[in-house]
Amino acid sequence: MKPALIVHGGAWDIPDDAVEACQSGCQRALTAGWSILSSGGSALDAVEAAIVVLENDPVFDAGYGSHLNLDGRVECDAIVMDGATLRAGSVAALQRIRNPIRAARKLYELGPHMMLVAEGAERFAKDNGIALCNPKELIAPSEREAWQHCRKDQHAAANHRGHEQGTVGAVALDAHGQFFAATSTGGTCCKLPGRVGDSPLIGCGCYADIEAGAASATGCGEAIMKIVMSKHAVDLLRTWFASDAATLHPGSTPPARNAAAWAQPASPAMRAALNAVALLAARTKATGGIILLDRAGHLGFAHNTPRMAYGYVQPDGSFLTSV
Ligand code: ASP
Repeated sequence: MKPALIVHGGAWDIPDDAVEACQSGCQRALTAGWSILSSGGSALDAVEAAIVVLENDPVFDAGYGSHLNLDGRVECDAIVMDGATLRAGSVAALQRIRNPIRAARKLYELGPHMMLVAEGAERFAKDNGIALCNPKELIAPSEREAWQHCRKDQHAAANHRGHEQGTVGAVALDAHGQFFAATSTGGTCCKLPGRVGDSPLIGCGCYADIEAGAASATGCGEAIMKIVMSKHAVDLLRTWFASDAATLHPGSTPPARNAAAWAQPASPAMRAALNAVALLAARTKATGGIILLDRAGHLGFAHNTPRMAYGYVQPDGSFLTSV
């Protein structure tokens, strides 16, 4: 099996001055993941390695540099899902874990359950060898400043200009045919304490099924939940593989940024991504993006936001990153 890897760093109105940092983050994430995949390593190790790079980079809304909640604290969510067994490890509302994806993986590998939240999730991680950190260590100065602006007046996107959103995700297929997807986020800025978005929910911010494909979504969490976006995209692939008759969601209109790709006879993976974003727009009026691989490793991506940070490994092994 030929390995494949695609990553994203969030879909939002990325300003010009953040483009380079987002692209370089995706490039480093690809480097970390591909060095594992290209030497015969596992898709699980690859998605974890890619996500750790993105979590450690404050330009993204995950791990260090996550948005602060209304109380001024970082609360992170993460998930990893195995396309072969459909088993996931999902953690939410973590305040003391530097790399939430590592906690998600531990739960996937060792836990009796598939999702743990808050103190219970942190205790499980600690009991399984993941060090807890001081919650303050997760706060980047730019996020603290944005939060202080919001506290003075009220929450406003303008206060977060330059770092509104930037959930991260990765999907990988390895040489042994193993298929994993992962998503990690700090959620939305000034969210109510305890808020959990789509990202760590199976089928919403992430889904993987080796019989069809695997996806990681980003964007307005409450809207993504409504359409169970990642599962929707993977289910399209399942249907299309079964019937080989790909049709777009009736009544949907192509997102402006993707109009050209939409007009082309795109691959099923690309059509599934476009369709999922079109459904998000049509049924919830919200914005977001998605990356995915179909079961053969063909990639798809789409967004109806002005920009999305993403990157993938091309058939010749070179990396393509874009914002
Ligand atoms: N979907 C994430 C959430 O709502 C945010 C994002 O993707 O930017 O928590």
